[in-house]
Amino acid sequence: MVPTDDPFLQRRYLVSFEGHRLGHIFTDVLVIGCGAAGLRSAIEASQFGEVIIATKDGLTESNSYHAQGGLAAAMDSADSPSAHVADTLRAGCGLSDEPVVAEVLADAGDHIRQMRQWGVAFDEDRGRLDLGREGGHSANRIVHAAGDATGQMLTDVLLDRAQQGPRLKIFDNCFVLDLLTDRAGLAPVAGGPGARCVGAITFHERYGLQVIHARRTILAAGGAGMLWRETTNPPVATADGIAMAFRAGAEIADAEFMQFHPTTLYVAGSTRSLISEAVRGEGGYLVDRAGHRFMADYHEMAELAPRDVVSRAILDHMAATGATNVYIDVRHLGADSFAQRFPQIDRQCREFGISPGEDLIPVHPAAHYMIGGVRADIDGQTSLPGLLACGEAAATGLHGANRLASNSLTEVLVLGSRCGRTAGEALAAEDEALTPRMIDWQNPHSDRTSLDLADIRNSLRSVMWRNVGIVRRGSRLAETLEIIGFWGHYVLDKEFYDPAGWEAQNI
Ligand SMILES: Cc1cc2nc3c(=O)[nH]c(=O)nc-3n(C[C@H](O)[C@H](O)[C@H](O)COP(=O)(O)OP(=O)(O)OC[C@H]3O[C@@H](n4cnc5c(N)ncnc54)[C@H](O)[C@@H]3O)c2cc1C
Repeated sequence: MVPTDDPFLQRRYLVSFEGHRLGHIFTDVLVIGCGAAGLRSAIEASQFGEVIIATKDGLTESNSYHAQGGLAAAMDSADSPSAHVADTLRAGCGLSDEPVVAEVLADAGDHIRQMRQWGVAFDEDRGRLDLGREGGHSANRIVHAAGDATGQMLTDVLLDRAQQGPRLKIFDNCFVLDLLTDRAGLAPVAGGPGARCVGAITFHERYGLQVIHARRTILAAGGAGMLWRETTNPPVATADGIAMAFRAGAEIADAEFMQFHPTTLYVAGSTRSLISEAVRGEGGYLVDRAGHRFMADYHEMAELAPRDVVSRAILDHMAATGATNVYIDVRHLGADSFAQRFPQIDRQCREFGISPGEDLIPVHPAAHYMIGGVRADIDGQTSLPGLLACGEAAATGLHGANRLASNSLTEVLVLGSRCGRTAGEALAAEDEALTPRMIDWQNPHSDRTSLDLADIRNSLRSVMWRNVGIVRRGSRLAETLEIIGFWGHYVLDKEFYDPAGWEAQNI
């Protein structure tokens, strides 16, 4: 078991600091993360006060930017929000929070119309939205843009709007290490009864460590895909948001629910690029090496069964046939129409010498979407006063045990805007000046050996993939806990001075 009484494992802040020696910045609302959730919440909050977005890398380094499939909403006259709710509850395996599902999906259409007004050019077919189909949906309700570049189109519009906002500033390459609470101490005592989030400690290569004091902090730091060896997520998805909230004592929920995407490009040397569910929605088949279309053997919805079903079926089929991957067959869709509908996927395949019109595309499941996170209600409120959360970093109960395809970008818009509004309205209601708190923190000194951080990360990601992957067993989980507890002793007692070390500790 992880020895939870070990002070090193309960480190409240990743680094030591003396408040009066650091640079101080003041804002009404601090938003952590520049994906669609961070941007949408910041735009909303900036109607009420000054907002700073801090993001650890470039402005487009986010899961949001890479999203391919689209946003789910009942926009067709033959469809209805209640059918969308029923599909979402079914995919969530009975663990979704039904009122949250109903409220979010009832507002989905309005948010898509708003994005169109703001300038997102969603794809159309003869003057009407071209609605795609994805796994687990009983109707065509996936709105997409530039074929499979929906995330990029959406993020570009949100970024543009955020950058034009007179009360909104974006600090890029500004790594948030920790949430600042007004009481020192070890978690969970630190964030326990009475403590309040009052901003964050950040690091920027040019300015070093700084404190951003904020009346409200919105955590929108995204997911955790980099915990697994195989993942569709970009390198920024290192669970920093969940880790810093945990250290501050906020409640974390459902962290065991990582959604695995069934189909990522499986070619040695490639990043695990997603082959969107929409490819199967448009008629792509899953086949094995012998050309057998096997999904019908596993589920009545065949290739369009929910993601968890398809991922497990692929694993079972690989085990039964002794294969390391399966294939998507899109040859019957025609090379030109595939390239037109899925320009990014077509390009990614061609970079590795695969012509989708002629060749089978090798695929394999990979970690994709963190369903769990910082527990937040539908308005973004967490258990830690002063801290709100939205997007993939939050666990709102919308997805239950399994996210329905394309529901997360919808969630990011609907709940991102609610979260920003909640933060903004709280400012107006309080009307209280921001009092800076000069907090000091000293970590215990450790003189143990230095570390090969890349090796730590690779080893952790491998053990997570092997033992905490799609199929899990109690004995393997217990073994993993022991391994990670052991590593934790000499990884978590160090102080690092750059993001690579902090990310390794967060992971
Ligand atoms: C390849 C891919 C395809 C997808 N396709 C779809 C789809 O078609 N439809 C759909 O609904 N969903 C899709 N998803 C999921 C969806 O994109 C995400 O769930 C959603 O975009 C999350 O938005 P977010 O703003 O919460 O997080 P992100 O977009 O990941 O943004 C997180 C932000 O936080 C920043 N950050 C992280 N840690 C720190 C730190 N310590 N300090 C400062 N900043 C930090 C990151 O740099 C980033 O800017 C896809 C995901 C991937 C990876």
